[in-house]
Amino acid sequence: MEKIYDVVILGGGPAGLTAALYAGRARLDTLLIEKAQDGGQIAMTEEIENYPGQLVEGESGSALVARMAKQVEKFGAERCADVIKSAELSGDVKKLVGGKGEYLARSVILCTGAHPKPIGCENEGKFIGNGISYCATCDAAFFEGLEVFVVGGGDSAVEEAMYLTKFARKVTIIHRRDALRAAKSIQEKAFKNPKIGFLWDSVVTKVDGSELLSHMTVRNVKTGELTEICANENDGLFGLFGFVGNAPNSELFDGILKLDNGYIRTDENMHTELDGVFAAGDIRVKSLRQVITAAADGAIAAMQAEKFVNA
Ligand code: NAP
Repeated sequence: MEKIYDVVILGGGPAGLTAALYAGRARLDTLLIEKAQDGGQIAMTEEIENYPGQLVEGESGSALVARMAKQVEKFGAERCADVIKSAELSGDVKKLVGGKGEYLARSVILCTGAHPKPIGCENEGKFIGNGISYCATCDAAFFEGLEVFVVGGGDSAVEEAMYLTKFARKVTIIHRRDALRAAKSIQEKAFKNPKIGFLWDSVVTKVDGSELLSHMTVRNVKTGELTEICANENDGLFGLFGFVGNAPNSELFDGILKLDNGYIRTDENMHTELDGVFAAGDIRVKSLRQVITAAADGAIAAMQAEKFVNA
């Protein structure tokens, strides 16, 4: 007979890792499934400075996550790498079907998080990996000494633009309004950085080049004026990083759970509308998506799963 876990946690970002830590500590028979590397979006963040108690100057998201993963290990949750393709969540025994096998559990905690939204310009797909990126930590080094553009005006765009100045010759933030959305403290640092420039009220409409990104069209949303931006002749290319927000990784649950703009609705104890099915972190409807709130969700979900399983 196939093993039935007390709880299977889907997703190894801060919510999933915290749920696994708490479930392991509660001596639940726990499996954490992650499709690729731990950490979710936070693993792509160069510097975390607002996780309470975190005093390691300049610590990266991936370093913080590595410490969380080590803590999970200590409390005995099993881990496996698989991509889940379908889920049956309504019965007493929940079933997750992945490429490598089936996983059964009495309760599940869904922590599948979110992914970066595309910039939304013509030809975008053609240049991903050839000039366009959504992860400064991953790709900044490819643009050493080159010119780089960042689309977006939120915390991610401004923080990652600052990180990119360590590599790029010049970084221009292209924002669709004339005021940034980013936290004031983050804005202040960016305005002081001599390598950062701004293109206000502007959106990228089209990107082009032979193989590598070397041209783009930017439209001023107030005047409608179109501007062609070309790579410097000696460079032959420029970088374009998109940070225009995130979209939930919830396709798997479409038709199984009621979704709100793709996000899973829960009560304050992380219960979805299905018994024994909990959701935690960025995947759920909430007002603040941060490492601290994801971790808090994960802890609550694990404790609720324990109550459910031992009822
Ligand atoms: P965000 O806060 O949703 O900001 C997205 C930015 O992209 C906004 O400036 C938005 O413009 C712009 N935008 C959206 N759609 C666009 C489009 N189609 N074309 C051009 N621009 C577009 O996303 P985020 O910065 O990735 O942050 C996500 C969450 O993580 C937020 O809650 C944020 O606070 C949090 N976060 C926190 C930190 C930190 O605390 N250190 C770091 C990173 C992220 P408008 O302003 O005009 O809407």
